[in-house]
Amino acid sequence: MVTVIINGKKYQAEEGRKLLQVALDNGIEIPHLCYHENLSSYGGCRLCLVELAGRKKSSLVTSCTLPVSEGLEVKTDTPQVKKARRLVMEMILPQAPDSLRIRVLARELGVSAVSFPSEGDGCIRCGLCVRACEELVGAGAISFASRGSARTVEPPFAEEPESCIGCGTCVVICPTDCIKMEERDDERKIIRWKRTLKMKSCVRCGRPFLPLAMVDVITRRSTSPPPGERLELCPDCR
Ligand code: SF4
Ligand code: SF4
Repeated sequence: MVTVIINGKKYQAEEGRKLLQVALDNGIEIPHLCYHENLSSYGGCRLCLVELAGRKKSSLVTSCTLPVSEGLEVKTDTPQVKKARRLVMEMILPQAPDSLRIRVLARELGVSAVSFPSEGDGCIRCGLCVRACEELVGAGAISFASRGSARTVEPPFAEEPESCIGCGTCVVICPTDCIKMEERDDERKIIRWKRTLKMKSCVRCGRPFLPLAMVDVITRRSTSPPPGERLELCPDCR
C-alpha cells in the first residue's frame, strides 16, 4: 500500500491503482466518461483531468491513466482543472447533444451552449464499446477507424460484423445511449453496427430469448457444469 494525497488529505491505496479509481473508492467525485473499472484505461475523454501538486509549473494529467505511487499529490477541483474540464466538455457536447447524461454532466461543469457546430451522431469516441467488446466479450467486433475529427467506431470495412454475437454489452455500456438494440419476431438487431441475429426460442413457451450466436459461444466456452437449461429456457420459464 502507498499513501497518496488528494485535495490535501491522505489516503491509502494499492500501488499502481489508477488515481481516478482511488478517488472514486474514497467518495471523491471526478467526472469521467471513457473510464470503466473492469476495462483497460484509455484516457480518451479527458474529463478526469487533475492537477499534479508540488510542481513549479502546474500540470494537468488524466487521472484514469495515472498509477498511484508513494507520496503522489493531486488536486481535483482547482480553477485550472475546472476550466480545462469545461473546454473538454465544450468539444464533447456537440457530438452528443441529445444525450441526457452528457447534457446533465455539461450543466454540472458549467457548459450549457454548444460552441462548435453539432456533429450529432451521438458518439463521443470514448471507446468503451470497443474495449468492452474486446476485453469482456472477447468478440472484437468493432474498432476505431480513421483519425482526427473523422475518427469513428465501426465494424471492419463498415460491414455487418460476423463476429458480433449480439450480446448487447456495448448497448449497455455506451454513455450516450447511441447504440440501439431492437428485437422483433425471432431477430435481434444491433442497429448501429447493422448486425441482425436469429434468436433461439424457449423450449417451453416458444418466446425467442437469446441470439443463436451467443448460444454457440456460451456452449463452446462452458466447462463444467454444462449450461443446461440456461440455454433452453427463457428467464421467465426457468
Ligand atoms: S453486441 Fe456485438 S458489438 Fe456489441 S459487445 Fe456484443 S459482440 Fe460486441
Ligand atoms: S458508440 Fe458509445 S460507447 Fe462506443 S465510442 Fe461512441 S459513445 Fe463510446
